[in-house]
Amino acid sequence: MTTIYSARWVVPVSAAPIENGAVAVDGQRIAGVGPRAEIVEQFSGFKVESLGDAIIIPGLVNLHTHLELTAMRSYLEKEETDFFAWLRKLTIARHELMTPDDVRVSATWGACEAVRAGITCVGDASDSGMMSMMALRDVGLRGVVYQESFGPDARLARENFEKLVAKVKQLRTVESELLRAGVSPHAPYTVCGPQLELIAEFAQSDGVPLMMHAAESAAEDQFVREGCGAFAEGLARRAIEWKAPGVSTIQYLQQVGVLDVKPLLAHCIRVDDRDIEKLRETESKVAHCPKSNAKLGHGRAPFARFLESGIAVGFGSDSVASNNTCDVLEEARFATLMARAGGGLVPGADALRVATFGRGLSEGALADLAVVSLTGVHQLPSYDPVATLIFASSGRDMILTVVAGREVYRDGRVLDVDEERLRARIIEISEKLQ
Ligand SMILES: [Zn+2]
Repeated sequence: MTTIYSARWVVPVSAAPIENGAVAVDGQRIAGVGPRAEIVEQFSGFKVESLGDAIIIPGLVNLHTHLELTAMRSYLEKEETDFFAWLRKLTIARHELMTPDDVRVSATWGACEAVRAGITCVGDASDSGMMSMMALRDVGLRGVVYQESFGPDARLARENFEKLVAKVKQLRTVESELLRAGVSPHAPYTVCGPQLELIAEFAQSDGVPLMMHAAESAAEDQFVREGCGAFAEGLARRAIEWKAPGVSTIQYLQQVGVLDVKPLLAHCIRVDDRDIEKLRETESKVAHCPKSNAKLGHGRAPFARFLESGIAVGFGSDSVASNNTCDVLEEARFATLMARAGGGLVPGADALRVATFGRGLSEGALADLAVVSLTGVHQLPSYDPVATLIFASSGRDMILTVVAGREVYRDGRVLDVDEERLRARIIEISEKLQ
């Protein structure tokens, strides 16, 4: 497929905005980016798609999702003030009420929401990794599915680890140019130290990407530093032993080898300057999830400090059980406003760079594009395309999403799946959960 997409603006992120710009796509890659007249002349055999009053940007990246939990949007509102109760209700619904097909439908509905919001790549933490892989494949998304692992009891560390390895082996059989399998030890309070060590060694030896939740809540901080609080009490009730390392979560993750594998860490709210320096030194990546963090009352991660320190940071929506939408542009706006409210000066252009996780539109780059309509009442007038993107637009303004040169969402329709069937099924699942 060879196509030229042209629009009033092209914002390559890696270069200055181009008015009346165009992007030429040849197969899975970008063949050229520039002023429309030049691109049309240079690629004369290509089909030309004129998108009109719109902005073409690189596809947005959602670094931290749990697509399988999409059926739990607005399901846990009453439990939000008690993170322990929140996690428990979620776990019961997930394991006792949802069938494997429910989980797949839930993940697919979430993948539809993602491409509708211009997201072309996700980092999805999943307990049912295979269902998430199928969901991403069916909708046409790029991503890494991180198979989750749980296990706070050190006596079961080896057994739990072996189960994880078996699941990852299965996921690898469906890997493709767009999809990769990874591992996700859930969090410091749900996975014991010996299991974290085994998983980190495996990630290192087999070159498997690792994502985990880190430094999210006050309860976690208390658990790791002092060995008390809601999570410690929960383990004590189950007669599971826990010796707190007595350091910050980030230092603890270094002790157990997790920082040796350049992990992707979600949240990182409770981090001091020493922790941030450690993250930078170890080339760890951070999924900044400001809306989920605010909604659950966990606090605000030091986004402006992340940017200053040069850490690789992207946005994550987290699950829609705690957000309640999967919308990276909205996340970017919220992150920028929250950082400024805290005294950090974050320019809109930086937020856009984070929203695309450093990807740009340039010759040879992957042809992952999102196209934002500029015809909304809420967007006009527009004097500066980047300001309009970050401060006046959201995922709901998308008109086209392209992944690896293939259109996956266009003019209100996700092209590869039957959204009406999914809609009926998601309502059915919600009635059951209720
Ligand atoms: Zn999460």
